[in-house]
Amino acid sequence: MESTINLLHHKEIAIVGAGPGGLTLARLLQLKGAKVKVYERDHSQEARVQGAIVDLHFDSGLKVLKAANLMDAFKASYIPGADNYRMLDQAGNMLLDEHIQKTTVGFDSEQFRPEIDRGVLRDLLIDALLPGTVVWDSQFVEMAEHNNRWSIKFKNGSIATADLVIGAEGYRSKIRSYVTDIEAVYSGATIIQGDIDNPEQDCAEMYALVNNANLIGMGIGKTIAVQPRANRGLTFYAASLYPENWVSTSGIDFGNADDVYNYLIKYYRGWNPLFFTLFKACKQFIPRPLDYFPLDQKWETKRNLTLIGDAAHLMPPSGEGVNTAMLDALDLSICLTNGEYADLPTAMSAFEQQMLARATTLGAEALDGIQDFAAPTQESIRKLLKLLSQDYD
Ligand SMILES: Cc1cc2nc3c(=O)[nH]c(=O)nc-3n(C[C@H](O)[C@H](O)[C@H](O)COP(=O)(O)OP(=O)(O)OC[C@H]3O[C@@H](n4cnc5c(N)ncnc54)[C@H](O)[C@@H]3O)c2cc1C
Repeated sequence: MESTINLLHHKEIAIVGAGPGGLTLARLLQLKGAKVKVYERDHSQEARVQGAIVDLHFDSGLKVLKAANLMDAFKASYIPGADNYRMLDQAGNMLLDEHIQKTTVGFDSEQFRPEIDRGVLRDLLIDALLPGTVVWDSQFVEMAEHNNRWSIKFKNGSIATADLVIGAEGYRSKIRSYVTDIEAVYSGATIIQGDIDNPEQDCAEMYALVNNANLIGMGIGKTIAVQPRANRGLTFYAASLYPENWVSTSGIDFGNADDVYNYLIKYYRGWNPLFFTLFKACKQFIPRPLDYFPLDQKWETKRNLTLIGDAAHLMPPSGEGVNTAMLDALDLSICLTNGEYADLPTAMSAFEQQMLARATTLGAEALDGIQDFAAPTQESIRKLLKLLSQDYD
């Protein structure tokens, strides 16, 4: 490890949230010799990570893994072929099948977007940290500053202290309120997520169709996307446009799988019943209204506190969220350790400017994209087909 660098000398850093952003930052800072702890709400490393696979991109996620000396670990852990797409219309006709049509590209190609299970990515990052770095069962509750040091209180009653706090606890960040009072806005789209533990048994035909890759079914105004998990499970996302607060006003009991099933088969009436086998096999649904932070958000930089990832710039899913959280981690670690900034506030300000500028661009694209994804038109289906076809043109 390199010697501790200037701004972080004798500083204790508390990162709250062991998501891709927080863990990547911890790894990058430890490579520079910094003293870091990551406080995570989950009770242990074995807690199940929500969501299925994520694809990492050449200029973001993969670039960051290289900087973190973790490419070999990634190459040993990603899911070859999971970056293939199968696209169906609502009748189940195959519109595009990358298992057949795509030209295989590798890690030297900017087009390559290898997929990894979220839980596997989390383990890979944790394994790279010094033992004891992640403090589990540490749900952030509140913090206060005394003599330039933060005293952080967790739900289990424990208290930690730190010179520098990084809020990396995702879209419901509580630390965000110590930085800004700008609130999230509803995008108009909601996803009903379903996890299926034994799809080979409970929806075998669909499992075979997914074939360990990405499957998207699109009809006018609604979409069903299905992804594999590393544990041979499946996760699906049934997306559409719904009014604000629809989850609480819909009358659907989302804790009751039969209730959600009955709703979904009505809403997707006319679709190939093969899609309904997903709804039937699912025992646990999670409704996710997709919110975002305003694209022009700004705040006054704090001397010893900042945000990364969704806590800073939540946007609708566009395939960039994990990648961007990891890029934030890289940029922040560079600003804090490259010796170019005279003091912490200047370094923090430089980081936040970069981060917010990037988020403005990506957030605008994500907002456009979520309309096309959740409420497709003939035109947007044609656009997506064209985009995916570029992979093998
Ligand atoms: C349906 C859906 C699909 C998506 N698909 C993709 C995709 O394919 N590719 C992609 O790049 N992005 C995707 N995203 C976006 C992506 O999931 C996020 O942008 C990304 O996970 C953000 O990383 P993060 O580290 O900032 O936060 P998170 O991943 O949210 O991690 C936050 C961590 O903080 C912990 N935490 C929360 N509250 C507290 C607390 N009070 N105290 C302590 N710990 C706490 C959480 O348990 C968690 O471990 C998707 C999002 C959704 C909703």
